[in-house]
This record gives sequence, C-alpha cells and structure tokens, in this order.
Amino acid sequence: MGYDAIRARIAAAAESAGRPAESVRLLAVSKTKPVDAILPLIAAGQRHFGENYVQEAAAKWPALKAAHPDITLSLIGGLQSNKAKAAVQLFDVIASVDRPSLVQALAKAMRSTGRAPRYRIEVNIGEEPQKAGVLPADLPALLALCRAEDLAVDGLMAIPPADADPAPHFAALVQLAHDAGLPEISMGMSGDFEAAIAQGATEVRIGTALFGAR
Ligand SMILES: *Cc1c(COP(=O)(O)O)cnc(C)c1O
Repeated sequence: MGYDAIRARIAAAAESAGRPAESVRLLAVSKTKPVDAILPLIAAGQRHFGENYVQEAAAKWPALKAAHPDITLSLIGGLQSNKAKAAVQLFDVIASVDRPSLVQALAKAMRSTGRAPRYRIEVNIGEEPQKAGVLPADLPALLALCRAEDLAVDGLMAIPPADADPAPHFAALVQLAHDAGLPEISMGMSGDFEAAIAQGATEVRIGTALFGAR
C-alpha cells in the first residue's frame, strides 16, 4: 500500500474518532529496508522514522539526517545496555525503555555525550512472559527512576498480544498514560493501527504496510 493511502487511512480513522488528522503521527518503520526504499518517503515529506537495531540504524541514518535535519529518528526495538551510548548519540527518541539497569546506562550515556533524547517507556500491556516491556504494576517506579536520572519521558509504547482483540489493551495503555500524566501514546502497527487510533494513539508505527513485507 502506498504512502498516500496509509496517510488517508490514518486521517479517516482520526476523523471517525473525532480527532484532527494531525493529532496522529505516522512513524515509518524502516527496519531491514535499504536507504533506497527510504528515500522516496523522505521525498514525499515523511519526517518521522523508526528503527529496531542500533547497528543497522547507525549505518543508514547519519547521512540521511545530515541531509534532512528535520527528520526525527526513533528507536523502537529492544536496547542492550552496552549499546546505550551509541543509541543516545543517534536517536532523537528512545521508545523501548523497560528496566532500571537500562535507565542507569542511558543516564550515564547522556552525561558522557551531552546528548538528551526524549524517551518512552515500553509497557508489556498484555503481561506476556516472553515479551519486552515493564509490567503495568512496575511502571510508576520505573517512571520515578527516569525522572530522578533526568530522562525526559514523554509517553508510553506497547505491542498488544498477537492473537487477541487489541482494543482493550490499547485502552489499558491509554489509561496508564493518562494516570501518569504522559501525553504520547505510541501504539498500533500495520495490522491494527485504525483500532489504535480509535482508542487514542498519538503515534502509529507502520512498517509492512508502507514498505512491503520484510
Ligand atoms: C517492526 C515493528 C513495527 C512495524 O510493524 P509492521 O507490522 O511491519 O507495521 C512497529 N513497532 C515495533 C516495535 C516493531 O518492532
């Protein structure tokens, strides 16, 4: 599906929810896709991109960001603490903060680089044993630690369980963000972004529907 068609579906879903289209950010998820696949989207005006792997992003993005300083790059994949410094140097948003040891590593990386990205906390909203993300019950403590370490957290991110209706999980994430006073809610992917917008997503993360299968 093309870029314009996805944008039109986002706008229609926002309108159905009584929200302006601009209230939902499209994060184009370009993991595994080469620069040649990304350039047409940049030419079409897309400015928010997401990547999963620090090393891959470090190979693809510095030149693109130098050419287009208004691009924002988000890390949406799991982050190992030993890559915290590289991540802080490259990304504008780190959306996969999920444990105290990573918060400490990011704080140290910010001190040593002088860089200060924005952060989101990844929540294991379906409380699935195999999945990344902080459990909802542990969110307040992790958020307090982020604040104590001067990490600027502006929202939450989650991936709902694969084989269930995502709507109640999206609603639960919205409630958590509301309770924590956080404005940004990153939820919804190629298969469920309209349901996420209906529940209140401020950002949808779309890969396959924009770039084709990986
Ligand atoms: C890969 C990925 C996406 C995009 O998924 P699609 O189904 O390809 O749209 C969104 N969010 C995260 C965290 C991802 O890892």
